[in-house]
Amino acid sequence: MQSLSVRELERYDRQIRISEIGFEKQLKLKNSRVLVAGVGGLGGVAVLYLTAAGVGSIRIVDEGILELNNLNRQIIYSEKDVGRLKVEAAAERLKSLNPDIVVEPIPHKITLENVDELLNNVDLVIDGLDNFKTRFIINDKCVERGIPFIHGAVYSLEGRLMTIIPGETPCLRCLIPSPPPEYDIIPVIGPVPGIIGCLEALEAIKIITGIGKPLTNRILIFDGFNLDFTYLPITKSPRCPVCSKLSQESKNDL
Ligand SMILES: [Zn+2]
Repeated sequence: MQSLSVRELERYDRQIRISEIGFEKQLKLKNSRVLVAGVGGLGGVAVLYLTAAGVGSIRIVDEGILELNNLNRQIIYSEKDVGRLKVEAAAERLKSLNPDIVVEPIPHKITLENVDELLNNVDLVIDGLDNFKTRFIINDKCVERGIPFIHGAVYSLEGRLMTIIPGETPCLRCLIPSPPPEYDIIPVIGPVPGIIGCLEALEAIKIITGIGKPLTNRILIFDGFNLDFTYLPITKSPRCPVCSKLSQESKNDL
């Protein structure tokens, strides 16, 4: 278990002063590894806050190349990054923000074939994706391997957030059994993924440190047109193909 340097104690001073965090929980952040799936509007914001907060190892996975039309919301990047691999530009930005953390940029698409390896030694996953096909690949594997998964999504001025603790709470498939129709292009304005991405980072910090109460068993629907935050309850579905398999396995274990 590593300790915190004098520099780190100064860098994180204001959050160490939060009585629920303190030195011990800050060390937990340092010794944790988070996978951020997709570094666009959602993941790019979440990962900036995780980096600033001192999450020690961050694995960013995205196969995308930055385009000019990404910059209305993907504030981790600058115009000079257009045409570059997003993970490379993001890793550079994160290292310049906080050289004390380890960033692992992985320029791949997440698939059924590589998801297992990508999740190795990961404590938690943040959803920064734009499609449900990949979200389901991660959801299913996270439930199977017992890795907390924070789901976020945006469309227009609406955002959604839900935290999944495998074995304890409903998962993404309990809520949506099969992938909904996908959009080729998602209309969106920056502050909306900004809000949801920030909340994803906060949920991650809470789960790693064990403080507060995560957003489980319900989903947050953020309506930016009216600035409404609505919470809807979600229950585990007996027909969920992922959770039902898990409970069947644990019954077999008894
Ligand atoms: Zn489920």
